[in-house]
This record gives sequence, structure tokens and C-alpha cells, in this order.
Amino acid sequence: MDAGTMIEPSFRESVDLMFNRAVALMKLPPGLEDKIRVCNSTYTVRFGVKLRGEIKTFTGYRSVHSEHMEPVKGGIRYATGVNQDEVEALAALMTYKCALVETPFGGSKGGLCIDPREYDEDELERITRRFAYELAKRDLIDPAQNVPAPDMGTGEREMAWIADQYARMNTSDINARACVTGKPPHAGGIQGRVEATGRGVQYALQEFFRHPDAVAMAQLNGMLDGKTVIVQGLGNVGYHAAKFLSEEDGCKIIGVIERDGALVDEAGLDVEAVSQWIRNHGGVKGYSTHYVEDGAGVLEHDCDILVPAALEGVINLSNADRIKANLIIEAANGPVTAGADEILRDKGVVIIPDMYANAGGVTVSYFEWVKNLSHIRFGRMQRRQEEARHLLIVHELERLSEHLGDAWSMTSNFKEKYLRGADELELVRSGLDDTMRGAYQAMHEVWRSRDDVTDLRTAAYIVAIDRVAESYQAKGL
Ligand code: NAD
Repeated sequence: MDAGTMIEPSFRESVDLMFNRAVALMKLPPGLEDKIRVCNSTYTVRFGVKLRGEIKTFTGYRSVHSEHMEPVKGGIRYATGVNQDEVEALAALMTYKCALVETPFGGSKGGLCIDPREYDEDELERITRRFAYELAKRDLIDPAQNVPAPDMGTGEREMAWIADQYARMNTSDINARACVTGKPPHAGGIQGRVEATGRGVQYALQEFFRHPDAVAMAQLNGMLDGKTVIVQGLGNVGYHAAKFLSEEDGCKIIGVIERDGALVDEAGLDVEAVSQWIRNHGGVKGYSTHYVEDGAGVLEHDCDILVPAALEGVINLSNADRIKANLIIEAANGPVTAGADEILRDKGVVIIPDMYANAGGVTVSYFEWVKNLSHIRFGRMQRRQEEARHLLIVHELERLSEHLGDAWSMTSNFKEKYLRGADELELVRSGLDDTMRGAYQAMHEVWRSRDDVTDLRTAAYIVAIDRVAESYQAKGL
């Protein structure tokens, strides 16, 4: 197809086009396809907050894409470009994402048109509390109906304000803390939520590289070790993904793209140092001589793995044919448009799709929600009992090795490692790893076993839509 004659669809249209590609290969009962595709509702709110001596009006959205399961789940984004089309696209992706990783939620998303960098902490708190009030009074924040989480421009701090605002409005709701996830641990959060989406990107790549046939499809070989990586957006998701891939898997981060340009260093960048620089200076400019002004152009650099982790639509009809990476993992939501997806598929680029790649966030959010509803930290009941049982074995091994001689003694740190029962963070990581492996295997099975499915995205949609359809049918719809 000639990219010059194609028209770029909107984000929501892009998601629908990808959905349509998948349902064309499925046999759904008449009408169900449409029911699943459409966004159930979008609420727009305009509210005023008195700031710096004047009333400032803000516009916010909360979309509910599918209520086949409740509560519905999806982050709240703070960005100037937030609009209804974007929020609805993101809500639809949440439906499919939750189905793919088997978290028992429908899909939702919210957004506020704001540049958070223009306000101080006090102002942001007032704006966030007011937005939360507007949503909560319409049940668009509610532990049983609609549970937000962080997204671009929001984090633990905003989630803590939202949780507190809801609790103030619902003083007798014992499950109030479960009204939002991504809270700091001291305010009802869970260990490992901040890193979860980036950690999920790492687990997704690890699982991909456990499948030699998949690796060969991306014209790569071997394991993750030594692979060159370019990351766009060193925020929550991009920073954690880059950190874990470089520190734990031997990947070389040769490029970091930010709002104000990019850093490119074939010898590998120090992720921690770059991140610290961005925090102090608001961008990558000035970090080193490796600075390049044309950040977006760095998406087209040679590398094994490209990790867009900033915003949607960055790989589009204008640059798709110049992308050189063999493997793209969509850490952000919707970074590749439907048209670009087609061009990249034709070029043989393998794309690990967003609905899977960044599902680590919602997976750990699910664990947090369960923790809030059960009112107990994971591992609290089992940890010491597990240690006591391990101690029994260690004592028995020590007794046996006394008889068998030194050759049978335990290696130096085995005892220490084996005796330690898992804490909450280890349990969360274990649950996340298991989820990412299981979801990948479900997609992989469809991708590699069906002749009519030639890419992971279509496979992911098929698995997800099938599960949503089953859920609707079980309800008698
Ligand atoms: P964030 O705000 O923490 O980080 C975004 C980063 O991208 C920032 O460093 C920002 O400076 C950079 N950026 C913004 N515009 C850019 C541009 N034009 N070019 C290059 N860099 C740019 O956001 P986040 O939470 O890391 O979210 C990033 C993406 O991941 C979004 O698409 C979001 O929907 C998706 N996501 C986030 C989560 C989560 O748990 N936070 C979960 C799932 C998906």
C-alpha cells in the first residue's frame, strides 16, 4: 500500500480497525461484534477551581467501554491533548487488555485536559479532589463499579488524593480504599505497583525470547542479553522497563527519546543517570554530547528492540517505512497507528501489542484491589509458616550432610535464600510474571497455529474478544 494515499485514522478509529481485522476471522453471533466494539458511555465534566485569584475551568472525561464485568477499570491521564476520542480509544483497549490478562474488570478510562507542570502541588491537589468529587458523585469512582489508576501525568500522589476524597464522601464504606489503585503503600497501595508496567514489559520480552520461533519471526536470535534497545519516554513505564532490561537482562539502552530531543550512545546509556538528569532539568538536553535535537527521528535508528513508552500515534504513516527495529514492544497505549501497523507487518517487523505489553499495570492494580477488599497484606499469614517448613528441610539436610561428608554440604548462601519466606513484593512479581507468561502463551498459540493469523496483535484481539464474548453470552446477551 502507498502510505502517501492513506489517511491516518483517529486513535479510536485505529483501535476499531484493529478490532475489525480480528473479528473478521471470528464467528461471533449476529450483533455481538457491534456490542463489544462500541463504547457504552462517556461522561464529560467541566468544573471550576479558584486558583491564583480567578476561577479556572477544567474539562475532564470518564469513558466506560464495556461493563461485561464490573468494576470497570482504567487510568486517569493528565495531559493537554486529552479528548473524547482518545479517552474512548484507551477505554476500549482496557476492555481487551483486562480480558487478555484475565483480570475480572470491564474497560474504562479517564482524562483531564491539563498540563500538570503548570501547577504547584497544592493547586494540583485541589484540582484532583474536585475532579474526583465530580466523578465519584456519579459512581464513576467506586470500588464496585469503576476503579481508576495512574496513567500519563498522574501517579501515586494523585491516587492518594482521589482515595481520600472518595473516603470523605463515603464515610461508612469499609472498602473505600479499593475505589482507586496505584496508591502509595502507606495509603493502601501495594508493593511493586509503581514499577509494575515497566516490569511487565520486561517479563513480556523475557517470555517472547523463550519462544525461538517468535524470535526468528523478528529476524533476531538468541536471548535478550546484548540486544540493543531504544526507549521513547523515560517516565514511569519507560524508565522502569529500561532500568530492568539493562540491569537484569543485559540489554544495551542505546537511545532515550524525550520531549526535548534524544540521547543516542551506541556504547549504552546509564538509565539511572539519564533519569536523574531529566528529573532535575525537565528533559535530556545538556546531558552529554550524545544529545540529538530531532527526538522523533531517533525512532528510525537501527536497534533490535524499539520501546515506545510515551504517547499514542508516534509511529504512523509518515515514518513507519523508515523504522529499522526488528521488534517493537508497545509499552505505551496505541503508539503504532493502524496504517503504520500494516506497513510494519509488510516489512516483517514483529509488534508485541500494547494490550499485552503494558498490562503489568492493571495486573498489579488487580492485586491491589484484592488486597484492599481483603484488608490484609499478601503473605502476612503464610510467610513465617513457610519459613518454618523450610527450616525443617534445612535441618534435615544438615543432619544428612554430617553423615555424608563435605561434598554433600549446602552451597554457602543456599540456606539464607531458601529460608526466607516471600514478602509482598516477591509475591506481586511472581503473580505478574505468571500473568505475563500465561497471556503471551495464549496469544502465541493463536498466532502460530492459525494460518489466517499473521501477527501478535490480531492474535491478542482474538483471545480477548473471545473472552469478552463468552462473558456477554453467559449473561444471556
Ligand atoms: P509518564 O507521564 O510517567 O511518562 C511519560 C514520559 O513520556 C515522560 O517522561 C514524558 O516527558 C515523555 N514524553 C511525553 N511526550 C513525549 C514526546 N512527544 N516525545 C518523547 N517523550 C515524550 O507516563 P507513563 O505512566 O509512563 O505512561 C506512558 C504510556 O504508558 C502511556 O501511553 C500510558 O497510557 C501507558 N501506560 C501507563 C501505565 C502506568 O501504569 N503508568 C499502564 C499502562 C499503560
